[in-house]
Amino acid sequence: MTIAQLADKVRGGGRLDRAEALELYTNAPMARLGSLADEVRARRHPDRVVTYIIDRNVNYTNVCVARCNFCAFYRPVGSAEGYVLGFEEIFRKIDETIALGGGQLLLQGGHNPDLPIDWYEDLFRSVKQRYPSFRLHALSPPEVVNLSRLSRLPVPDVIDRLIAVGLDSIPGGGAEILVDRVRKLLNCYSKATSDEWLDVMRHAHRAGLRTTATMMYGTVETMDERLEHMFRLRDLQDETGGFTAFIAWSYQPEHTELGGSEATGVEYLRTLATARLVLDNFENLQASWVTQGGKVGQLSLAYGANDMGSVMIEENVVRAAGASYCMDEIEIVRNIENAGFTPVRRNMHYERLGAPVFREREVPRMLELAVARADGDTSRPPEIVRYAARSAAGKKARQEHAAE
Ligand code: SF4
Repeated sequence: MTIAQLADKVRGGGRLDRAEALELYTNAPMARLGSLADEVRARRHPDRVVTYIIDRNVNYTNVCVARCNFCAFYRPVGSAEGYVLGFEEIFRKIDETIALGGGQLLLQGGHNPDLPIDWYEDLFRSVKQRYPSFRLHALSPPEVVNLSRLSRLPVPDVIDRLIAVGLDSIPGGGAEILVDRVRKLLNCYSKATSDEWLDVMRHAHRAGLRTTATMMYGTVETMDERLEHMFRLRDLQDETGGFTAFIAWSYQPEHTELGGSEATGVEYLRTLATARLVLDNFENLQASWVTQGGKVGQLSLAYGANDMGSVMIEENVVRAAGASYCMDEIEIVRNIENAGFTPVRRNMHYERLGAPVFREREVPRMLELAVARADGDTSRPPEIVRYAARSAAGKKARQEHAAE
């Protein structure tokens, strides 16, 4: 089919197959691809509303045994730079989030062998006791797989136990590219295969949770593999309907073992627009300004995105790999309005909550990102001694801590 015929097919509500999507990605002129994605976005969201959420991205530990070669964030077990946040530190971060009008933590971390499932259960339970209406958008599929292996429980049981103590939804992290050839090259096949990632989401959706889906592109994958990723998500969405949104991130190469260079803004916009055309059963596509910066993030709204993601209060993972963009609510709203849309605050379920908080009351400006831990802070949380460590280094540290 020609580009014009493919555009007609999309306009008529037809579903693209992989070869057709590849043809559009590769050969459609930039403006044509963008305007087609914009038409599809407008069909789903005709009221010209662009949503965003105020939440805080907290990484509870950077200790990780997975060692993905694209990751600059993790530290190996026993590293002097490894940390686990204490419950009180996390409560403080929640207090600061609430002060900014936020109602959710996006809680993710490394695969730390010294944090058993009861640590997560106690944390979630204590957060919910203290902040009953605060939401926990927590633990990406590979973290759930890790907990399943550590506790020798099937994935559905892990999900049920976490729901019982307050898990509200699962973030779509750790998907990278859902093609095992790519996962092996990125050394992330053993943390979760493509099928394992999708299976966690399938079980989560069956258990009544909504989740997001991500794609980290721009490493070693081909464009066809990027499309395979999107089609696998589309198939699961057909089956469960549990995904709320799709988010594409470009790989950030600085300080990583894999190295290389970052995909360009044009590649990002073409990938995003193609995703809008392929993922015809996804309601929402986020603009990834955290990796693209505010300006390309704003342009995303003309290439299929209808959501600006999260006000960034804290960020550790992307920053470790060299990108550090900061936008508080005022900046996000300015970008949305300047692009000709109406900004509306939402929660994780994409339910609309209302107008910007800063127009209703005074909130502190966030002009730079917070970090998980201040540099040089090597404190160990007091409650950590209650939890059994598995690694030799972890066991030794617990003994020393208990003796203090
Ligand atoms: S991406 Fe996640 S799982 Fe992989 S090394 Fe980094 S922290 Fe660990």
